[in-house]
Amino acid sequence: MALIVQKYGGSSVATPQRIKKIAERVVKTKKENHKLVVVVSAMGDTTDNLIKLMEKINPDPPKRELDLLLSTGEVVSAALLAAAISAKDEKAVAFTAYQGGIITDEIHTKARIQRINTRKILEELNRGNILVIAGFQGVTPNDAITTLGRGGSDTTAVAVAAALKADICEIYTDVEGVFTADPRIVPQARKLKKISYDEMLELASLGTKVLHLRAVEIAKKFKVPLHIRSSFTDREGTLIC
Ligand code: ASP
Ligand code: MG
Repeated sequence: MALIVQKYGGSSVATPQRIKKIAERVVKTKKENHKLVVVVSAMGDTTDNLIKLMEKINPDPPKRELDLLLSTGEVVSAALLAAAISAKDEKAVAFTAYQGGIITDEIHTKARIQRINTRKILEELNRGNILVIAGFQGVTPNDAITTLGRGGSDTTAVAVAAALKADICEIYTDVEGVFTADPRIVPQARKLKKISYDEMLELASLGTKVLHLRAVEIAKKFKVPLHIRSSFTDREGTLIC
């Protein structure tokens, strides 16, 4: 039995259909007898739309309230995915970052995770539940909701994997792994089977959108093995270790 953290990005959960597809993959993994934590991003363009919505109300909003608003996108995904898993007769529970004990500093819109109180997460896993956690968000010691910066769900996944000492953190996205160039633009780009944390750090800091930079830093620091792969195929992606 392994402890696996899976992260699904916004494109992987963009529609009800896709959420049901992800639920199938999650249930299949659970049936292989693993403990499973799933971290989700907001559906499709939800975060962009929430930002636009706030701009219509107040072009210079209080960051605390902006964070509270943005955090709702991931909560929607978490609740829907847990319900989709339940519809397939597996037990699943959805958590906000608050419920998951993901504690950050007070820097709204780019907060850093300081620690994770894993007690409640472990309780659910030990009850045999699949735990679905809303990515991209945290809570300050004063109970304000924060967000981790755009693309921050990766960081949630890797930090949770580090805190739980997970065997692997699988990052599901709309490309099949890390390529020598963006395969959506350069068709002859090659997929890399395996790269080091340092190589990935370099790619992330050059602005490659494959992984949040902070996620790679945490993975390197806590030696969390990462597998970047596509949610649309079963093919192996890129291993970062
Ligand atoms: N939904 C957030 C964003 O669009 C976080 C994420 O996708 O990882 O930036
Ligand atoms: Mg997103």
